[in-house]
Amino acid sequence: MRFDVLTIFPSFFEENPYFKYSILGEATKKGQIEVHTHDIREYSEDKHKKVDDTPYGGGAGMVMTCQPLFAAIKSVKKENPKAPVVFLTPQGETWTQPHAEEFATKHEQTGLILLCGRYEGIDQRVRDALVDIEISIGDYVLTGGELAVMTLIDSITRLIPGVLGNENSPEEDSFCVKFDRKKEYPHYTKPEEFQGIKVPDVLLSGHHANIEAWRHDNLK
Ligand code: SAM
Repeated sequence: MRFDVLTIFPSFFEENPYFKYSILGEATKKGQIEVHTHDIREYSEDKHKKVDDTPYGGGAGMVMTCQPLFAAIKSVKKENPKAPVVFLTPQGETWTQPHAEEFATKHEQTGLILLCGRYEGIDQRVRDALVDIEISIGDYVLTGGELAVMTLIDSITRLIPGVLGNENSPEEDSFCVKFDRKKEYPHYTKPEEFQGIKVPDVLLSGHHANIEAWRHDNLK
């Protein structure tokens, strides 16, 4: 799956070990995902490569301007015309596991164009004309959209078939359909007793039906 990321900080992705190791690193090496970064500043026609300006109506902070964003999005759209443009913003729909599942299937072939805001956000005309989907990763404010984009890429990638081994099936994680979208049961591993604290007897019983029932009862 292809992810095109528009940001004024491409190095946050290009130099980020998070994309080089573990599951995302392996998925990249195997060609299961491709993360392409695009520096919004390079599209600015301003002689100082400015991408922001003061807000109409006054107020604190700066707003990302139309010109570089229109140029950057249109250029990436030429490379990947079917990919929807997703803007990360606190005003968007809150990201959940069903969104990750939907995106991993619906957009696996087309990929996604992911737009990171900075400052106070972006000029509304970009949103009206070029953004297809607006997503928030939670009810709090980050300094920029980059962490939000990483959250989307991570949660989608682990659902792409073949990315996780069988031993790590995403169908048995918190919020999965099998768990009625509830949160997962507690886990225990060896030893059976640690500092006087024992593993629940049922998990040592070898009785699969009872273990399943215990786990089901302990979903949150
Ligand atoms: N003035 C904006 C507001 O009050 O909604 C916050 C702007 S924030 C400082 C800068 C950028 O970070 C946003 O344009 C957005 O791209 C990103 N961002 C911040 N919080 C986010 C969240 N919860 N989910 C997704 N993106 C977020």
